[in-house]
Amino acid sequence: NVRVRFAPSPTGALHIGGVRTALYNYLFARQHGGKLIFRIEDTDSNRFVPGAEEYILDSFKWLGIGFDEGVSFGGEYGPYRQSERREIYKEYVRQLLDAGKAYIAFDTPEELEARRKEIQNFQYDAHTRMQMRNSLTMSKEEVDGLIDDGQQFVVRFKVEPGEEVHVNDMIRGDVCIKSDILDDKVLYKSADELPTYHLANIVDDHLMEISHVIRGEEWLPSAPLHVLLYRAFGWEDSMPRFAHLPLLLKPEGKGKLSKRDGDRLGFPVFPLEWHDPKTGEVSSGYRESGYFPEAVVNFLALLGWNPGTEQEIFSLDELVQAFDITKCSKSGAKFDYKKGMWFNHEYILRKSDDEIAGLFAPIVANNGVEATMDQVKQVVHMMKDRVSFVKELWELCSFFFIAPTSYDEKTVKKRWKEYSAQQMTELAAVLEGIEDFSVEGQEAVVMKWVEDKGYKLGDIMNAFRLTLVGIGKGPGMFDISAFLGKEETLKRMRKAIE
Ligand code: GLU
Repeated sequence: NVRVRFAPSPTGALHIGGVRTALYNYLFARQHGGKLIFRIEDTDSNRFVPGAEEYILDSFKWLGIGFDEGVSFGGEYGPYRQSERREIYKEYVRQLLDAGKAYIAFDTPEELEARRKEIQNFQYDAHTRMQMRNSLTMSKEEVDGLIDDGQQFVVRFKVEPGEEVHVNDMIRGDVCIKSDILDDKVLYKSADELPTYHLANIVDDHLMEISHVIRGEEWLPSAPLHVLLYRAFGWEDSMPRFAHLPLLLKPEGKGKLSKRDGDRLGFPVFPLEWHDPKTGEVSSGYRESGYFPEAVVNFLALLGWNPGTEQEIFSLDELVQAFDITKCSKSGAKFDYKKGMWFNHEYILRKSDDEIAGLFAPIVANNGVEATMDQVKQVVHMMKDRVSFVKELWELCSFFFIAPTSYDEKTVKKRWKEYSAQQMTELAAVLEGIEDFSVEGQEAVVMKWVEDKGYKLGDIMNAFRLTLVGIGKGPGMFDISAFLGKEETLKRMRKAIE
């Protein structure tokens, strides 16, 4: 029974790496007929950011990644927001304390700081815990007395030294460490009556019957501690299997991808635009930048996994079929944002002219142009293979709708010969006589005329282009003139010749 979860902490916008983690969980759940759970890990109240939870949910809605259970989806294992599960955690903290697998510690932050100054690489563990102020070094009366006095305390996990801890990772195989390197992690803080991430995460994964933990590589160092926690609770037999996904790296390949890389190189690292309520800063999103959600999903799916074939374009359903978590790479995946743009371009090509025209039409209208849907569609058909984003179409296509008011100087110098005006006057006359003003209709007549006259085709076409669009490049000439129609074509030509 596959049950996986995506468990973000609502500390800000959802990072694109988090989106990939959720996507891999989604693919894994779907291909095994399992369930995907959305859990909010908000036990660190200092880092809570209002609006983050809604933002994360909106992001997945846009991306088309659906959950089966969890915050805002409901389900039988709730509540799914950790701040609503305080009482549950307390019970499990108590269980560890009673079993002697955890202990109460009173050391203040100042005391700990002093220790760190005193002892190089100080670690709260089997070697040092007996010199600290905790329930292992104090009498029961003393401990109870301090708690009754309202002294704040934490509960620490008692890591036994000399043990081998194995994490069986679906991507990395057997990862083995010695328990000596682990510290006695804080599991619970009396100050806010909340557990820390580690305890809440293990308790919830157990109670929610999570079968596989698929998460970012940054959590691999915590995994041995998690294994020990399962052991301490006696849950080792039902422990989930782990998969730690490779990090997303900077486009240059070194170091973890950060928001600053996006700002520096001009690409978003968030799915949706994010308004940071604390700083007021606005960060760009994939949606607002003009990406299609399918393209983003496709792009992310291939960062850290590949199908082992040449195929690059995958629908979500195809990904569900092809994805294999055991084939994820162990090393980080370079975040090649240009590849992301390429994917968007590929999706533009694959979408119907109707759909792209529907997105382009408002842009045309916003530029003050009245055009029919059919005209917009024609332009889209001619030009969509040249852009990565719909919004790029306007700059490339405005000449279809607006006659040039000036002529590019450089192009004029190079391409407008002393005989061009004469030739264009003749061409205008030829065009005027053409009844079938389609691309083919014009082509047949004009080509013959060029040949009969012995003119150079390049001269004619370059000058023709200048008269119609004012610049040196664009789609095929007859595509343009056919779109404009005879009347507009002749009007533009005559104006240019004057
Ligand atoms: N709350 C953790 C995060 O924000 C979840 C880590 C995990 O999946 O165990 O990434």
